[in-house]
Amino acid sequence: KNLSPEDIKAAIRDMNIGTISLQFTDILGTVKHVEIPASQIDKALAGELMFDGSSIEGFVRIEESDMYLRPDPATFVILPWKTREGRRTARLICDVYNPDGTPFEGDPRYVLKRVVAEAAEMGYVMNVGPEPEFFLFERPSAEQGRPVTLDHAGYFDLAPVDKGEEVRAEIVLTLQEMGFEIEAAHHEVAPSQHEVDFKYADAVTTADNIATFRSVVRTIALQHGLHATFMPKPLHGEAGSGMHLHQSLFRGEENAFYDPTTPDRLSDVCKQYIAGIMEHARAITAVTNPLVNSYKRLVPGYEAPVYVAWSYRNRSPMIRIPAKRGLSTRIELRSPDPSCNPYLALAVILKAGLDGIKRRLTPPDPVEGNIYHMSEAEREELGIASLPGSLAEAIRALEQDPLILEALGSHVASRYLEAKKIEWDVYRTQISPWELQEYLAKY
Ligand code: ADP
Ligand code: MG
Ligand code: MG
Ligand code: MG
Ligand code: MG
Repeated sequence: KNLSPEDIKAAIRDMNIGTISLQFTDILGTVKHVEIPASQIDKALAGELMFDGSSIEGFVRIEESDMYLRPDPATFVILPWKTREGRRTARLICDVYNPDGTPFEGDPRYVLKRVVAEAAEMGYVMNVGPEPEFFLFERPSAEQGRPVTLDHAGYFDLAPVDKGEEVRAEIVLTLQEMGFEIEAAHHEVAPSQHEVDFKYADAVTTADNIATFRSVVRTIALQHGLHATFMPKPLHGEAGSGMHLHQSLFRGEENAFYDPTTPDRLSDVCKQYIAGIMEHARAITAVTNPLVNSYKRLVPGYEAPVYVAWSYRNRSPMIRIPAKRGLSTRIELRSPDPSCNPYLALAVILKAGLDGIKRRLTPPDPVEGNIYHMSEAEREELGIASLPGSLAEAIRALEQDPLILEALGSHVASRYLEAKKIEWDVYRTQISPWELQEYLAKY
């Protein structure tokens, strides 16, 4: 799948491609792009295309705004839904560079690549398989105060109760045309909620895939007159959308998390990785659960984690160990939600895991009972901490964790914290409908 510039030029000719979309993401994970006619491909592949970085969230000030895009040939793919006057559009995901030829440290893809390189120095490749969930709503969505659902279906339900099924099938077909290996697609627990799982890959490829996945889902939904959202908790009283991240470290052809000689057949490296993630869990959450709304999902009662704990079977803790062993040995991190910037999220998670390995940390014992049924005293005795209860708490945890700040790099860390503090400040002064209903008449 690693195409050379010559392969790309041949594809442009043979597949009748008229336009190329050059893509990258801002620090919030929003995909940005510039379209060029196919005739400009040589210039693009040479990394000579410039754009104004000062208008991109978290990038640069006006005085230093010239940025260059360097397309990654491995990301070349035709956009199946886009045809103009009979000619097709292809896309390339790009790395962002400074005028002096150095990588731009505000580029989230570069932030991830830096941590991936650190793992490579230790002999590891991180593999990640995501389970993104999302809602399909009627348009217009939120005008009536609550999004309008399409169905009353639940987990694994079949059409016709599930009106979104047609659209989800179309989403799956489109992703397959783009080279995704889809492992499963099903209705989720809440009305109008869906999940599509695709095969794991190395961290950068998976982050690219998540970004692509979100734009495919939105595009295909829109074509059917629906609104797709990755907002973590759009409906009060229903399950929110998560994005569980299954992860393992490979050393060459071998899964470094697997050890057939231990009682649970998990390696020391796996345990240390778990311990590292747990140690930095609260700071990581500011990145894996980036919205005010993210914290309305991380509450008891909806299968979303609330506590920093791990378990072999139980689905309530933050980390679960799926039963599979051998090459499929992996941990499942259940806290992230699909509104996160996938590059930054994987960067901070990997950094935390590597820290656990470097310091040979030991995780606390796994928790097999239901943590939600424990009293605060019982949890304290077992040393079970809580995930942040709000974006404000998460921001504070991030500010206090030098290792996670280092993973982001000073440029991204300061822009990210600044943006998130503004978001929290705007939110905390709002008067919500609930408050009016609850207080206006009574007081
Ligand atoms: P769940 O049981 O939590 O619903 P799924 O079966 O839906 O999990 O998803 C499993 C995910 O784990 C898929 O994305 C799959 O490709 C991924 N996966 C499988 N093996 C590995 C591995 N060794 N490392 C990382 N991810 C893996
Ligand atoms: Mg699943
Ligand atoms: Mg599953
Ligand atoms: Mg699910
Ligand atoms: Mg899962």
